[in-house]
Amino acid sequence: MFDPLKYRDVDPGFRVLMGPGPSDVSARVLQAMASPCIGHLDPAFLEIMDQTQQLLRHVFQTDNALTIPVSGTGSAGMEACFVNLVEPGDKVLVCVNGVFGTRMCDIVSRIGGELIRVDFPWGRAVDPQIVRQKASAARPRILALVHAETSTGACSPLAELSQVAREVDALFLVDMVTSLGGMPAGVAENKIDAAYSGTQKCLSCPPGLSPISMSPQALDKLKSRKRPVVSWYLDLSMVQSYWGKERKYHHTAPVNMMYGLREALRVIAEEGLEARFARHAVNHRALVAGVEAMGLSMLVPEKERLPMLNAICIPEGISDAGVRSALLKTYRIEIGAGLGELAGKVWRVGLMGASCTRGNVVLFLGALYSILNQMGAQVTPGALEAAGAVFDD
Ligand SMILES: *Cc1c(COP(=O)(O)O)cnc(C)c1O
Repeated sequence: MFDPLKYRDVDPGFRVLMGPGPSDVSARVLQAMASPCIGHLDPAFLEIMDQTQQLLRHVFQTDNALTIPVSGTGSAGMEACFVNLVEPGDKVLVCVNGVFGTRMCDIVSRIGGELIRVDFPWGRAVDPQIVRQKASAARPRILALVHAETSTGACSPLAELSQVAREVDALFLVDMVTSLGGMPAGVAENKIDAAYSGTQKCLSCPPGLSPISMSPQALDKLKSRKRPVVSWYLDLSMVQSYWGKERKYHHTAPVNMMYGLREALRVIAEEGLEARFARHAVNHRALVAGVEAMGLSMLVPEKERLPMLNAICIPEGISDAGVRSALLKTYRIEIGAGLGELAGKVWRVGLMGASCTRGNVVLFLGALYSILNQMGAQVTPGALEAAGAVFDD
């Protein structure tokens, strides 16, 4: 029998979000999202849209006119960039060093692009020298890569890869879902033609929007297409008319999500990008110092590590799921499991946005030590002291 009374109020309980996203959302952002829903063409909302665009340009570090949040999660931004810039038969070189690079390949193939896939070991950065060789032989129209591979914790060098894209006259397309707002990724400085992100990683807003930014060169490509964009919903030439002066209805903007994103971006602007990047860097170093003091090791070599996503190798004989469920049950800490070929091999510990605090570093290290110790793993005491030494430095 259907019993409407058995459905209670939503009450997920308290969590410390230290996985690959979503990250913790501040009370300010949640409160902004609870503001009254108004029309998506209401003058008050149009002003919120304009401000959101300005704040997005600040965090992307660009003055690109086309800088907007696409309706949908990070994958919608990924799809939007490819469907708008790739026509059937266009050569697209995709660098793959983890799960999200393979997702790019899947999208390119679905829309009939000629895929040139260049693989790198998972847990390592993309090597610009190898990309240069492949790109100068293949002459792609687009060179695409994931800046911050959330599946492995590896960071690829944007400046060098941007240089390669220019040498072969390709548009430079970059996934910034995890890096945006947590480390330098400047769209203008690195001459990026198409960048996309997601709200739930270092921006610390719930999932639901995908900020993107496109250069004038990318817009030229969009304008000179021979065929219309295959996706009606993600066709930026139409979406742009809603965000631009015409204010032409395309689809109803997710009004309350926009309130949340605007507030999250305001929080970032108040902290300042440099201070925010420094906070991510120091908490990352403290976490690594603690992990290594315990006798555990990181997947990614030091110079190629991301600050906001830390892949820790699971010690021999220790239950991957057992540790994650003990962290959740006993300490309310969520961390991520390994994905794809790293499933069962690593834990992914996020330090993203509002979740990236000294308190969370200390809590996680203490909790992990205690759980591993109880499971009979060989762990050395001293993790908190090692992390503390980084904070004191
Ligand atoms: C999370 C993530 C995505 C996908 O975003 P969704 O919001 O899950 O659709 C794409 N790329 C990277 C690097 C990510 O971390």
